[in-house]
Amino acid sequence: MKALIEGFLKFQKDAFPQRENLFKHLATTQHPGTLFITCSDSRVIPELLTQQEPGELFVIRNAGNIVPSYSPHPGGVSATVEYAVAVLGVTDIVICGHSDCGAMTAVAQCKCMDHLPGVAGWLQHAESAKVINESRTHVNETAKVNSMVRENVIAQLANIQTHPSVRLAQEKGLVNLHGWVYDIETGSIDALDADNRTFKSLVEHPTTCAVQARPVQAAA
Ligand SMILES: [Zn+2]
Repeated sequence: MKALIEGFLKFQKDAFPQRENLFKHLATTQHPGTLFITCSDSRVIPELLTQQEPGELFVIRNAGNIVPSYSPHPGGVSATVEYAVAVLGVTDIVICGHSDCGAMTAVAQCKCMDHLPGVAGWLQHAESAKVINESRTHVNETAKVNSMVRENVIAQLANIQTHPSVRLAQEKGLVNLHGWVYDIETGSIDALDADNRTFKSLVEHPTTCAVQARPVQAAA
């Protein structure tokens, strides 16, 4: 805890004065352009890896960067997605998995989670990704986990499109969906190209998008 307090004192002394005008502007308003959904993992820092300032990312973090499908009993993730899309009007949603993900490793390796009933229940939202991953052959366990991370991003992109606010924004051509996998060791990001269900280097293919906003023409 000592490190956190010292960090806060440093923030007050150095970082805050550097952005004083920004914080003054943000005191009563926010217009983030992107909803960024990623894992709670301490090594994944959305603002650092996208070089965004305060006020620019609306963030949801949880174990396994999961978005439960919309249900009659929506929880915190559903409420936050709805607020980001319907109220803040974000134009992009990123679902970002990452290398060495503990949650996805547990799912891929079918680890016993009897002692973690909360985690076990939560990770069932990745079940469709798990069965697809299990149906494939993998050269080794590392490859199996890496594949699970990617399949989970694809599954969560499908889940988020069951949310009414997201579907409506898509219908109006207002929101793009992105599926990313961040590699901790190299700092690289692979992005899902939905056209052929492959992940491409975001450096080499910076316009890669999982689901591009396309306004649907109303029937005459
Ligand atoms: Zn993780």
